[in-house]
Amino acid sequence: MTATLIDGKAHAAALVERVRAAVPAFAAARGRAPGLAVVLVGDNPASHVYVKNKLARTATAGMRSIEHRLPADVPETDLLALVVALNADDAVDGILVQLPLPGQIDEAKVLVAIDPDKDVDGFHPVNAGRLATGLPGLVPCTPTGCLMLLKDACGDLSGAEALVVGRSNIVGKPMAALLTAASATVTIAHSRTRDLAGHVARADIVVAAVGVPELVRGSWLKPGAVVIDVGMNRITRDDGTTKLVGDVNFNEAVAVARAITPVPGGVGPMTIACLLRNTLTAALLRAGLPAVVGL
Ligand code: NDP
Repeated sequence: MTATLIDGKAHAAALVERVRAAVPAFAAARGRAPGLAVVLVGDNPASHVYVKNKLARTATAGMRSIEHRLPADVPETDLLALVVALNADDAVDGILVQLPLPGQIDEAKVLVAIDPDKDVDGFHPVNAGRLATGLPGLVPCTPTGCLMLLKDACGDLSGAEALVVGRSNIVGKPMAALLTAASATVTIAHSRTRDLAGHVARADIVVAAVGVPELVRGSWLKPGAVVIDVGMNRITRDDGTTKLVGDVNFNEAVAVARAITPVPGGVGPMTIACLLRNTLTAALLRAGLPAVVGL
């Protein structure tokens, strides 16, 4: 078997287009486009690239973005004061504080300070609780994107054996909650799991969010499984050049799986597209406007 490649770029472009198409109705009702505030602290080069991409895509979708740059040595109190001001600003629908934050700042304290209704990353404990209990809220972007790709590749997920490898608050746990809500039978594996290969072998769906290059081997997979590879690991080749690989050994898995996301070009583009979707969702919810069907 040669797996179908799940084209995250194409799915993400279609999602951004759906968001873009829904913005004018919001703007007509509210007299302004949805607004996303992005807070960038310090000089982390990767964070600068992520923020630049997020701001560019926000503009593509016809939304406003407001960037706030703070120096690496900013006191925690100043960052918290900015978050409080953004919470109070009615023209700001979404607030994103780019992680990681410098050592003097308690990340958890900052994330909890964000108004849960503006928490477009979906990291606030209130949003985690809403997801866990089936209430409407803002769901973390990466697992939301993974679920969309899975629904497109598999159709109905009801009763499917799904394995999520990784239990982080930003990917693994919300992914498992979303799959449970979609009526899959969900197993969560982590660093203490015994016999990871055995769990993989039973799964119709494997979502790998680990951060260990090519951990999941093709020979472990059930033939015909659908594989979503969240991992983004930069490795150095023998000749000194680097490349990005996932948490799944792609070359092996592609011969066994029914469908698989490549790295790059799979989950990554969906993460940013879902941030735009969350920003529009936050704007609609805050304005008391109905959700957009099919978004
Ligand atoms: P974390 O480091 O927060 O979590 C990793 C998880 O993997 C932990 O639960 C850990 O277990 C588990 N784990 C570690 N080693 C093993 C192992 N040998 N076997 C089984 N489980 C293991 O990572 P994130 O969830 O933040 O990210 C995971 C990956 O996804 C990274 O490569 C990251 O770069 C990528 N990522 C990609 C995104 C995208 O847009 N494409 C967005 C976010 C992340 P334990 O809890 O026991 O420590």
